[in-house]
Amino acid sequence: MFPDVLCLCIAGTDTDAGKTVVTAALARAAVAAGFRTLVLKPVQTGSVPDAQGKLQSPDMALCREAAPGADLRALVQFSAACSPHLAAQLEAGGEDTLSARTLVEEVNKALREWHAAEAPAACRKLVLLEGAGGLLTPLSASETLADFFALLGWPVLLVAANRLGAVNHALLSLEMLRSRHVPCPGFVMTEVQEARSALEQTIVQDNPTITASLGHKPCLAKLPHMSDLNAPHFPKREAAWKKAAQEVAQVLKALEEEKKKEEEEEECLPFDKAHLWHPYTSPLRPLPTWEATGSQGSRIQLKDGRTLIDGMASWWCAIHGYRHPALMRALQTQAQTLPHVMFGGLTHAPAVRLGRRLLEMAPPGLGHVFFADSGSTAVEAALKMALQYGKARGRTRILTVRGGYHGDTLGAMSVGDPEDGMHALFSPLLPRQLFAPRPSCRFGAPYAPASEQAFAQVLCAHADLVAAVIVEPIVQGAGGMHFYHPDFLRAVAALCKQHGCLLILDEIATGFGRTGKLFACEHAEVAPDIVCLGKGLSGGVLSLAAVLATREVAEGIGGAFMHGSTFMANPLACAVGEASLQLLAGGGWQGEVARIERALKEGLSVCTGRPGVEEVRVLGAIGVVEMEEEVEVAKLQSFFVEAGVWVRPFGKIIYLMPPYVVTDEELSTLCGAIDRALARGLWR
Ligand code: PMP
Repeated sequence: MFPDVLCLCIAGTDTDAGKTVVTAALARAAVAAGFRTLVLKPVQTGSVPDAQGKLQSPDMALCREAAPGADLRALVQFSAACSPHLAAQLEAGGEDTLSARTLVEEVNKALREWHAAEAPAACRKLVLLEGAGGLLTPLSASETLADFFALLGWPVLLVAANRLGAVNHALLSLEMLRSRHVPCPGFVMTEVQEARSALEQTIVQDNPTITASLGHKPCLAKLPHMSDLNAPHFPKREAAWKKAAQEVAQVLKALEEEKKKEEEEEECLPFDKAHLWHPYTSPLRPLPTWEATGSQGSRIQLKDGRTLIDGMASWWCAIHGYRHPALMRALQTQAQTLPHVMFGGLTHAPAVRLGRRLLEMAPPGLGHVFFADSGSTAVEAALKMALQYGKARGRTRILTVRGGYHGDTLGAMSVGDPEDGMHALFSPLLPRQLFAPRPSCRFGAPYAPASEQAFAQVLCAHADLVAAVIVEPIVQGAGGMHFYHPDFLRAVAALCKQHGCLLILDEIATGFGRTGKLFACEHAEVAPDIVCLGKGLSGGVLSLAAVLATREVAEGIGGAFMHGSTFMANPLACAVGEASLQLLAGGGWQGEVARIERALKEGLSVCTGRPGVEEVRVLGAIGVVEMEEEVEVAKLQSFFVEAGVWVRPFGKIIYLMPPYVVTDEELSTLCGAIDRALARGLWR
């Protein structure tokens, strides 16, 4: 958060690891080395009321004694001496009141206040944050201290009690930090009791060495047993603290060196701007870019310390939020056995399990799965399927509606809206397709059959040639976030049947709950011949898409289907995909999407009367503010980042498609930011 502040968390392997002694000794060493030092205790249990009834932290009392020059803050305190989740529940009548996110916010607030308080500008600053219990100590029924550390993102120093059994505890904890990608400079071992026998002495000598070797982390300090720390009076305790501080001083050195190395590492943004190509922008004069360093739930962490509420779900794919533990677990587990193998001639359980789940939940009638590596290639594969199927019947054309978007590869672009820039730019390469007018009858409006008639006319005129019709069901996404009437889709499906052409539904953006139904075609209760899926399929973790087809299509393509790619059915992506579908199968998404729909309707309704606004509309977890003119993306986006939200408009559309885990409060912030941008006229 502040480049001039060194930050370090201190976590124990368990409650008796001696982390408070190490924290206090570090604070003393830091003050002695000239650091302005803050010690934070985010959650303190077992606090004792003072004469005024105010809870006092016993750990902070120890730090006060060891390092009188340090600033000390205990942020959330409980009197019950037990795990934070239980202490919190006891206080709140059984309710969980702690969360990693609120604790991180408390820590950042305390840090901001402390940083703002007067100090010589050049003075070195250090914040030590002492955990509670061990890494998997519960904060609530759904989070542990490790979640808090992961979200905070500071390096964590592990403190282990140096005794029999220490190696197992320390290695498990190091493994846990590694699996959460929490930086760890090393560990400290403290002899919390005296090693008496010769064997005990050998054990305490060996423990740091073997832990460093197996845990691939350095032992930064070894604290001997210091019985004088329990002495009732000075000067013995004072001398013991002095010794402890000397022992741990190495930790501070290691921390400073690490920070220096980081600073010396190349900055990302200058290279990015000079050499990396970003989507839909000039390589020489790119739109502004921010550096992301982490993500969690519905938040994106920026390098400069800011955390943004994500309104985009990373182009609509991170439906379960970032780094969902189930998806991360699936990825890590799969990486340990089979990260990738060619799908030609080989198969694997992740592909089979995902395929089975897909067919179980997909619209009825689909029996064959073709895995692709992006939405665009899924559309290519679907079009090729339709063409191979149609060729034997003398049908070679594809029909679609205007205003659609199906991806950026040539075949996919050819069925995208013919008026937009992409067709004009690439027309010599694009196959000529047939276009009917954009479905004019809106979702939620009384049905007017005129748009269906316009479609029927084009289809009838070319019926003998049309191999397939491809449309995005109900929501035309990147083509303008247009929501159309389910009866139009019903009519298209009926006309396809009548004229013997295949119906391809591109559910890449709409699938997996986004519109309030698991698949948007359920709004119209139509059964497609081919469906394209992507985005949420792998929960936004890896690129994965799939084309599902009926038995009739599989039989009708006449032999081999001529498509494949190196990374087809990548096992990592399939394993994550299966975990993503398993989360959806839990059914919780329905309530979440309905809640988001309500919040978006309420939050965006204020934009309706703003100058320049054409229309505000909401369907499922999609909220759209359509402007009368194209918006200034760069200006708007800079404002949104300043406002703490990640919203990337396009064309005339300012919209929200957040992860389903977004809270009502976050939605209100997202909607509020859009309204403020409009109120200030920042869109032009
Ligand atoms: N079809 C639709 C409906 C889409 O919205 C998109 C992407 N926005 C695509 C296809 C292309 O998917 P991808 O970006 O994964 O190639």
